[in-house]
Amino acid sequence: MDKRTKFVLDEEEIPKQWYNIQADLPEPLPPVLHPVTGKPITPDDLAPLFPMELIKQEVSTERWIEIPEEVRDIYRLWRPTTLFRAHRLEKALDTPAKIFYKYEGSSPPGSHKPNTAVAQAYYNKKEGIKRIATETGAGQWGSALAFGGACFGIEIKVYMVSISYHQKPYRRVMMEVWGAKCVPSPSKDTKAGRAMLAEDPNCPGSLGLAISEAVEDAVSRDDTHYSLGSVLNHVLLHQTVNGLEAKKLVEKADAYPDIIVGCVGGGSNFAGLFLPFVRDKIDGTKPDLRIINVEPMSAPSMTKGPYAYDFGDKAGLTPLMKMFTLGHDFMPPPIHAGGLRYHGMAPIICHLANLGFVEGRAEHQLGTFEAGITFARSEGIISAPETDHAIKAGIDEALKCKETGEAKTILIAHSGHGHVDMASYDAYLAGKLKNYEYPEEKVKEALENLPKV
Ligand SMILES: *Cc1c(COP(=O)(O)O)cnc(C)c1O
Repeated sequence: MDKRTKFVLDEEEIPKQWYNIQADLPEPLPPVLHPVTGKPITPDDLAPLFPMELIKQEVSTERWIEIPEEVRDIYRLWRPTTLFRAHRLEKALDTPAKIFYKYEGSSPPGSHKPNTAVAQAYYNKKEGIKRIATETGAGQWGSALAFGGACFGIEIKVYMVSISYHQKPYRRVMMEVWGAKCVPSPSKDTKAGRAMLAEDPNCPGSLGLAISEAVEDAVSRDDTHYSLGSVLNHVLLHQTVNGLEAKKLVEKADAYPDIIVGCVGGGSNFAGLFLPFVRDKIDGTKPDLRIINVEPMSAPSMTKGPYAYDFGDKAGLTPLMKMFTLGHDFMPPPIHAGGLRYHGMAPIICHLANLGFVEGRAEHQLGTFEAGITFARSEGIISAPETDHAIKAGIDEALKCKETGEAKTILIAHSGHGHVDMASYDAYLAGKLKNYEYPEEKVKEALENLPKV
């Protein structure tokens, strides 16, 4: 029996280029549209928000994009990350399946997010930007960008979804340790925030609303850019450093996945892992590979939303992107996996789903925590509540193998640890968490406000 548990690469094997799926899509992505004119956006439209290098990456169709040496040098702090074979979980489930997970929790902020935060801070620094405004859900993105800002000496202002700000104070403290400023969203610092507070002073906030605040902040100041931790093409591009490592590592393990599972909020961690693999499905070498995007039942954009043009934020400031959406003013219920409370999904993932290369699945929160506990008691790692969605799907697929007797290879995208989410586990263990049914009526209302394109 193969007892090998950890598969690792040498530091020099950190990829030197990111992989751009846009070179290999069978059909190009639908255009991104200007929120006012409805015409395809131009680089100039985006220049107030992003450095030109990132705008170029957003639309590039070059297959390989150079990772700057300065970024790779910071990646060395935690990359390459380890691929684990989950022997103990397999045993606990009594499954013939082979379960692997690629673990991104070893980065300083504890998730995959610094893969892009460091790159974004670098390109902003190079363009002379002094300050970046951003939003954060559960706080992982804010803390990752705070870390990225600290690496390059850039001031970071974070609008943090209010419910998470109060549920997860330690993420705010992490941001402050790395030198960033963090306020709860809705905040009094922007028009969008003040309008929401006037409507509902106890508003729990949402990622869409926090994006509105950060975009408003960025466009109102010359020294400030905006930064997004997920959804956009360049963010998914930066995350492919993980999938490229994973491809080398499964080879070391003499394996290739039959099924890849990951959790999706905006979709960046999972896309970063699966994009280098989906290439094999697109070109026909691995036609049977299944790629399962796991989302929360309370915000099931891929499994319940229409494929339509929508804004990325609540106030309607961002460009229009074609995606599976629940409507930009849909406010998801306050589940503990704050990073998954988003109304839309990365256009690249939606396009691939629409073409039939990837699929979606929705899970209730109680089942995901149960899976996270099973994982912690076998593999040891206490995972982020977001990641528990991926683990739940991985376990379910492994249990199906137990029924059929098939020894499938399952790869779980493990996006981060849950050390700053102990309040959520505490609530779960105390029996205080509940499931939220799919909020059909609220989604119906929000979908009535889709922009007409
Ligand atoms: C932010 C986050 C997610 C969700 O974001 P994606 O862009 O969908 O990856 C998932 N897991 C962890 C640990 C996160 O921090």
